[in-house]
Amino acid sequence: NTFQELGLNEDLLHAITDLGFETPSDVQLKTIPILLERETDLVALAQTGTGKTAAFGFPMLQKINIDSRTTQGLILSPTRELCLQITNEIKLYGKYCKGLNAVAIYGGSSITEQARDVKKGAQIIVATPGRMKDMISRKLVDISKIEYAVLDEADEMLNMGFYEDITDILSYTPQEKNTWLFSATMPREVASIAKKFMHNPVEITV
Ligand code: AMP
Repeated sequence: NTFQELGLNEDLLHAITDLGFETPSDVQLKTIPILLERETDLVALAQTGTGKTAAFGFPMLQKINIDSRTTQGLILSPTRELCLQITNEIKLYGKYCKGLNAVAIYGGSSITEQARDVKKGAQIIVATPGRMKDMISRKLVDISKIEYAVLDEADEMLNMGFYEDITDILSYTPQEKNTWLFSATMPREVASIAKKFMHNPVEITV
């Protein structure tokens, strides 16, 4: 099993070579081909450290239109640290995707600066739910053209009390988008989010 066989484009394979990734991880093998080939919702039971950022990051980078400045991908994550880590990884994975602008939005840091970064045109936004909702209500960000939404560490986000923020945020995104949910566990609240916002999701477990 190689990254070449998963259907990734040259720009992404080039970055993968630079990063020294030799073989796809289990979660990458199970998700990347499906997400590249199909427009589908996905529920993935996967722990942290399994390579799940690349599992949703590579397909998102390949499927969005980098030539456009419209925000097409939204990744919600529970904490500032994770938000920054994901943004950093997306930038590494997309280093040869010329014109890519991935912006991190999280609390405890200047909202003005984050708004300015978004305004330059961010194809991908990685955000914590609280700050994201704040920016939406202040009309500092437009997620009405989102095509791919990722709920990363969904169980953690719900544990932290973000259910309402998440549902509010998703209500500003188009119905027709694809939602990819990643969670280490599947408590009732996570299942409820999946049921409410997803349509016949492909389910994978690693
Ligand atoms: P994650 O679970 O997404 O936080 O990834 C954990 C770490 O594994 C990160 O530092 C990634 O850069 C790295 N990683 C992801 N996929 C691979 C892979 N296929 N081979 C080697 N390292 C990887």
